[in-house]
Amino acid sequence: MAINIKEISEKDKNSVLHPFTHLKDFATGKLGEPTIIETGKGIRIQDASGTQLIDGFAGMYCVNVGYGRTEVAEAISRQAYRLAYYHCYAAHTTDELAILSDRLVKMAPGRMSKAFYGMSGSDANETQAKLVWYYNNLRGKPHKKKIIARERGYHGCSVLSGSMTGMSFYHDYMDLPLPQIVRTGAPHYYWGCNPEETEREFSVRRAAELDQLIERLGPDKVGAFIAEPVLGTGGITPPPVGYWEAIQAVLKKHDVLLIADEVITGFGRTGSMFGSEHYGIEPDLITIAKGLTSGYFPLSAAIVGDKVYKVLEDGADKVGAFSHGYTYSGHPIGAATANAVLDIVERENLPANAREVGAYFQAQLKEKFAQLPIVGEVRGVGLMGAIEFVADRDQKKRFDASLKVGARVSKAARDRGLIARPMPHGDILGFAPPLVTTKAEVDDIVSIAESAVRSVMDELVRGGEK
Ligand code: PMP
Repeated sequence: MAINIKEISEKDKNSVLHPFTHLKDFATGKLGEPTIIETGKGIRIQDASGTQLIDGFAGMYCVNVGYGRTEVAEAISRQAYRLAYYHCYAAHTTDELAILSDRLVKMAPGRMSKAFYGMSGSDANETQAKLVWYYNNLRGKPHKKKIIARERGYHGCSVLSGSMTGMSFYHDYMDLPLPQIVRTGAPHYYWGCNPEETEREFSVRRAAELDQLIERLGPDKVGAFIAEPVLGTGGITPPPVGYWEAIQAVLKKHDVLLIADEVITGFGRTGSMFGSEHYGIEPDLITIAKGLTSGYFPLSAAIVGDKVYKVLEDGADKVGAFSHGYTYSGHPIGAATANAVLDIVERENLPANAREVGAYFQAQLKEKFAQLPIVGEVRGVGLMGAIEFVADRDQKKRFDASLKVGARVSKAARDRGLIARPMPHGDILGFAPPLVTTKAEVDDIVSIAESAVRSVMDELVRGGEK
């Protein structure tokens, strides 16, 4: 059935409150008509007018197995016919949920014990915070509650996870962050380093700052540190050399739990199954979402390590039932979706594809962009990467924000058939294509991006802004 574009657009404009959209510009038509995305296959999506786009961002870094995988659709349908819903409260389960959980605790890095399920990365991080508090209450350390999160970290936008997120526009006008969340510096060497400082020295400095922060707050007041193995929405920034080693030593010293937010890095994106494996991280708690179902169904999990779980179980005699859970925790269709997706991830060895094709992708990005006069840094790992634009490479000077360079490059790429995302904190073009992307598709992505970047660079030169 063909979509009536006009009718759908009208209904949308009249009734959808769109995230991350300038509400007045949308209402007055300044942003144009909504884009109605209708179908997807492989790494491409198509809108209702028939325009094809390469999805260089896998939706929101989530459609790792690519669009249109019939075996996932069939698993969803099969489970919906069999049993559309049942909860997992009070020792109820389903076969798909038990199988998925067994798989997850075995495949996750470190010694993991149990998986608690939610519907989004935000709610899973919210669960992690509550677990940290619960754990320390049970251990008789009721003041060990502060959670340290990083500038530019992204952990969601619910009240607690939004507080962990280190971006002020998630807080302003929303009465956040909550006081339990404390901030430490971003692992961003390019902008954060001092003159002459090596990457390793920068990492050691960040760890020393964390150490001082914990000392200042009091180690008996700090419960956990939350971080993404690779900074994602904050600019797609792999950790500087030595970072994780130095940070973990500080956390161990002060008995502070480590929550690895693997919402983006989980299930292959870095070239390893988990970012924690890639960087030698030993988390106590792991958050997963996105790639768990490749976006085919909303499902997330807070994976709980042995150390924390043991305390929760031992404390049960004192507190009674574990009083946390959602109607849709462990949703059987979500579990069936995840099992079908993980079958593909394992069978097609998508972490290996992300490693091999990713190495080619990183090399192409460096080759085509690193020397351009408006590019300050090209960075990434596996199949996630970013190009950061600057007005002056030598002085490391940003473009005037009003020039909107990042957004313009992204728009130019879009006009040429590629989705690559402008990221906050400067002029950054981000890529996170599906993990099934081939080298030939990398060539398509990079050549469109190059044409887009060069067109905006020409405009800047013509306008005297460069
Ligand atoms: N953590 C990270 C690292 C993320 O990238 C995201 C989403 N981009 C989230 C948490 C929040 O996930 P959700 O949008 O599903 O709530």
